[in-house]
Amino acid sequence: MKERDKNIENSKKDSSADSLESASPLSGPLRGEKICVIGAGFVGTVTASGFARFGHEVVCVEKDDKRLSLLRSGRIPFYERDLEQLVKTEMSGGRLMFESDLEKGIEGVKAVFLTVGTPSSNGGRADLTALQEIISFLSKKMKPGQILVIKSTVPVGTANMIKKYFSENGNRADIEVVNNPEFLREGNAVYDFFNPHRIVIGGNSTGAIETISHIYKMGMTRPVPIFTTNNETAEMIKYASNVYLATKVGFVNELARLCDRVGVNTMEVARVIGADPRIGQEFLNPGPGWGGSCLPKDLREFIGLGDSLGVSLHIPRAVSEANLRQFEHVYRKVKSLAGDIKGARIGVLGLTFKANTSDLRESPAIPILTRLIENGAEVIAYDPAADGEVIDLLPGIHRVDDPYETAVGSDCMLILTEWSDFQLLDWGRISETMKNKNIVDARNILAPELLKRYGFNYASIGQN
Ligand code: NAD
Repeated sequence: MKERDKNIENSKKDSSADSLESASPLSGPLRGEKICVIGAGFVGTVTASGFARFGHEVVCVEKDDKRLSLLRSGRIPFYERDLEQLVKTEMSGGRLMFESDLEKGIEGVKAVFLTVGTPSSNGGRADLTALQEIISFLSKKMKPGQILVIKSTVPVGTANMIKKYFSENGNRADIEVVNNPEFLREGNAVYDFFNPHRIVIGGNSTGAIETISHIYKMGMTRPVPIFTTNNETAEMIKYASNVYLATKVGFVNELARLCDRVGVNTMEVARVIGADPRIGQEFLNPGPGWGGSCLPKDLREFIGLGDSLGVSLHIPRAVSEANLRQFEHVYRKVKSLAGDIKGARIGVLGLTFKANTSDLRESPAIPILTRLIENGAEVIAYDPAADGEVIDLLPGIHRVDDPYETAVGSDCMLILTEWSDFQLLDWGRISETMKNKNIVDARNILAPELLKRYGFNYASIGQN
């Protein structure tokens, strides 16, 4: 049997009940491994500190000096719930350290986890520049028996391409390459690391796959399904997950546009259709459109891969186009309440692409507020965590530190992120300071009846 067929065979076996059993926490003696994680971003910092908590000895390599010195002093360069505490505890326990020197970082480790960014290039395909730089270095420096684990989201075929590169440049066929896609949700990343729904490990070597399974199982307190397969399948699983999630949100957003027209409450429809396990309750909340550091870029890569192979992918393309229309839909909602956008003062609550993160990458706030500003609105915005990039990404906004300030003299309030704090604001006080009592709740987080009692013209997404 060819190696690849054997792997598919294994992957079939591993999806069975046997594989669930094999994913139970280790019952034998614990043996921590020495691990290197490259890239201290959202994924890398969570992975490194999570593995340290499992009992492994972890070196996290980061090239950005500012980021590195923050992390070394126990501070996190972005907002992620519970992460700072975890990092501090593991650093003081001596199991986690941050390093700038990659060669030192990989010294004596069993596995090297790669978690650098893979943003879109201009053409829409994944930009692998950061990854390629590291691969070139590793092809000269990794030692036989070490395993390279690709955790970054990478195009189908990348692991095998790296394996080939290792063989041809540096004669490193003895380095195994494994794909281990990450499914954490920003805002719940620490929780997700310790409570994954599944772990996917792709590779060609049973030994390498077993070692990576062991690294996870060592810290698991309950059985978690570990799906083992080949590299291309693991890579495709990650893209298929994100494209499906975007499709689900895209569907409920379009449903909301229709529900608005016919006077049906989308939330009620979503709750009932979601009770069917074939559909499920999650990801059925209409909103301002999906964004973030993953879905948009992963859709672009997925579509690009299809195009490169002559497979036209109509659904993801339509989902992307519908999302642009959703941004426009929110803009129009503001316009219909505020009247003339030119000269209107719009108070904005929330800039990040979702709550509980500081991440602004491809946040719906960017196209929506840019459109408002371009049409002459004055935008005053508050966000409890959005990082310093705000000014670069939205140079026209005026950011304030107090949510109540956004309302003063405003013609319309616009809620773009579902921070729960916004539900606790004194909406009576807000209504009194506004010039015109209009509100577009693009996350459906407020109680319409309460808002109407305060005299607001209230618009939501799919509840009107
Ligand atoms: P990020 O941009 O936050 O972090 C990447 C880090 O790598 C940065 O700190 C950068 O300075 C560092 N880096 C780049 N080149 C380096 C080098 N040569 N040496 C050392 N450090 C280097 O990215 P992220 O959001 O953590 O995402 C990383 C990958 O994981 C991406 O492929 C992404 O698609 C995937 N992913 C992200 C999420 C998420 O929620 N953010 C979830 C699942 C998967």
